[in-house]
Amino acid sequence: MLYGIINGEKKRAKPKLKAACPLYGTELTAKCGAIKVWHWAHRAEAFCDEWTEGETKWHKNWKDCFGIGQVEVVVKKRFKKHIADIVAKNGVVIEVQHSPISPQMIEAREDFYGRMIWIVDARSFKENFNVRFQAFVLKQLKEKVHLRWKNKDTVIETALDEEGFEWLYFDCSHLQLGEAQKDDLTKIGFFYNSSLKCWKAEHSEKRFRYLNYLQTGLFYIPFEWKWARPSWQFAQKPVFLDFHKKYLFYVTDGTGKREGLGYFVAKERFLRRYR
Ligand SMILES: [Zn+2]
Repeated sequence: MLYGIINGEKKRAKPKLKAACPLYGTELTAKCGAIKVWHWAHRAEAFCDEWTEGETKWHKNWKDCFGIGQVEVVVKKRFKKHIADIVAKNGVVIEVQHSPISPQMIEAREDFYGRMIWIVDARSFKENFNVRFQAFVLKQLKEKVHLRWKNKDTVIETALDEEGFEWLYFDCSHLQLGEAQKDDLTKIGFFYNSSLKCWKAEHSEKRFRYLNYLQTGLFYIPFEWKWARPSWQFAQKPVFLDFHKKYLFYVTDGTGKREGLGYFVAKERFLRRYR
């Protein structure tokens, strides 16, 4: 755990400190080594939340994106209590999962928390997970992140402007858009920029999916996952895969299967929604 309780307050581990566990008040010892993230640890024999994972740098990075009051929150329900990794401002519990997890554990947590989502550390299987058209970080300037999805000659580009607004640019010069499609684009908030020769709109999942649909006939991006982890098929709640890039892949179909669908969500955008 990143936080222990000292004099009623949540505190980070520092050398030689002791604290109480927020769940049952048992003693925690600060572990402040050179390699692992500084964290609090129970005595080996202590009984506590069997759901908590060891603290990795990846866990810490996610938890540090949120306020102290939103991280490692004790949730009580039906005479049981557990420590949720993160509670979003809208009350949704975010569980950040690094290790493989059993179907029973997935079901138990989803049942307990109710409104929750998963962020899964996907770095260890990123080589085995492919979207059918390439997504790559085009360039990374100070505040600007460009993601480009390429399929044949058409391109969807997203970019952040100086104010942090995310825009979609859709180069349709290689597509024969009919009047009805142009109408649709206008209806969902696109306007045609004749100097850039592309359609432009503020980013939203709906708009992104529509552009994807124009290109592929599908609203979502197909993926192939070699050696998929089948326990994730038991997840009923949303699963976001984190490949340690600027975006998450939200799996809409086929979680834990060899093939499925989903789309990319910029982390910035994800955080704006849940923070
Ligand atoms: Zn404890």
